[in-house]
Amino acid sequence: MSKYHDETPKCSFCGRPATAVDELIRGDEAAICDVCVDACRAILRAQEPPGDSKVAVTEDHDAECAFCGAGGASGGGCGGCGHHHDEVLLFAALPAVICADCVELCLDERDGLGEGFAEDRYGSMEYRRCGRTGLKLPALSLGAWHNFGGRADFDEARRMLHRAFDLGITHFDLANNYGPPPGSAEDSVGRILVRYFGEHRDELVISTKAGYGMWPGPYGDFGSKKYLLASLDQSLLRLGLDYVDVFYHHRPDPDTPLDETMEALALAVQQGKALYGAVSNYGGDRIGEAQGLLRARGTALVTDQVAYSMLNRGPERDVMPYTEAEGLGVVAFCPLAQGLLTSKYLDGIPAESRAADPDGFLRSEAVTPELQAKLRRLNELALERGQTLAQMALQWVLRDPRVTTALIGARNVAQIEENVAALAAAALTDEELARIDTVLGG
Ligand code: NDP
Repeated sequence: MSKYHDETPKCSFCGRPATAVDELIRGDEAAICDVCVDACRAILRAQEPPGDSKVAVTEDHDAECAFCGAGGASGGGCGGCGHHHDEVLLFAALPAVICADCVELCLDERDGLGEGFAEDRYGSMEYRRCGRTGLKLPALSLGAWHNFGGRADFDEARRMLHRAFDLGITHFDLANNYGPPPGSAEDSVGRILVRYFGEHRDELVISTKAGYGMWPGPYGDFGSKKYLLASLDQSLLRLGLDYVDVFYHHRPDPDTPLDETMEALALAVQQGKALYGAVSNYGGDRIGEAQGLLRARGTALVTDQVAYSMLNRGPERDVMPYTEAEGLGVVAFCPLAQGLLTSKYLDGIPAESRAADPDGFLRSEAVTPELQAKLRRLNELALERGQTLAQMALQWVLRDPRVTTALIGARNVAQIEENVAALAAAALTDEELARIDTVLGG
């Protein structure tokens, strides 16, 4: 793949120097500049184009894509991929049109995503067995609760999933309500899966959940069979998948009989819409009964997904003895306590942080002076070990063999890279663990 370096041709649309597109589409005719790609991106995200944008969706149904020739009076398919494109974008200034698929190709080219995945992606990740089941999960998994919804940066989301998989992260976790708006994280991830991961579906474990409020009326919340199965169908549509690997009941429902909720999970498995059923936020007191109800239906729970971190050790007592006894794995979510267990809050709340984000679930009040004092002491210990606090916090979660995977979130590729690098560090010693206990207890 060549990039333009010398004698840079002009962007076909605005006439400025072209930057990052090569013969992938149509040789020199395909030249396009970053500004025009950004404008196209705005359209692709179905957002209002920026005020000074020179693009709009054309009303001219005879318009042809300037790159691949899609659309147009001939109605022919794309010269490159053969698909018929029904969306063309008009650059009003020239005017010229480009189809959405060609814009995606331009973006792939610019971000280096057009070349497939790293061949050595299984070289260094550790895979842990989920309880006593046959399913293995990577020591670090990536969740889409934040930073994948309709208001997030879709391009970074695309790069994050791509990089995560290159680093051996084979498990992506979703829920019906992740966004905002609810459902949009599944939409975005689905779009990315369809575009880049088609050939790799069998290398991935995709999970989703239902259990929190999703649609109005009595059938869009909690744990009825009516809600769970309808929600799973909706999730599959958004994700563009025939099945998910793991379907979770997202939280206990005090009113629906556990038997009915477990019947819904078993049905999802029997219908081939999920490979495994699972629960999330279930205390140990329900695990044995839930497992028994599923086993009676010929299947079994694969994991309980619970919040577990240095700042939230409840599951050691309330969950893990029970999951261990029943053969379930533990998926530890919020292992960084939503970012608190990183170096970012040591001296305040940075603008680029979840605590500063009005859409985020971490409240700024959580960053107290007492907590900061603890975090600073933990950070010193991490620095002594030659690592970041985030890395030490992840190693700490994974020190317990009952934990199958630490399910992280990330704002960008750099955070994923930093977190995966934790797996290469020396294990925490007993003395270091004792010092951490002292800080946490103090
Ligand atoms: P984490 O505790 O890993 O927090 C992730 C956040 O921490 C990032 O978004 C980022 O926030 C910050 N961060 C991550 N790495 C670094 C780093 N190296 N340096 C500095 N900051 C970093 O997990 P989440 O709270 O995101 O939860 C993870 C997943 O768990 C979710 O996506 C979801 O799949 C699942 N989950 C499940 C729940 C359930 O009820 N079952 C509930 C909640 C989560 P910032 O924006 O500040 O940079």
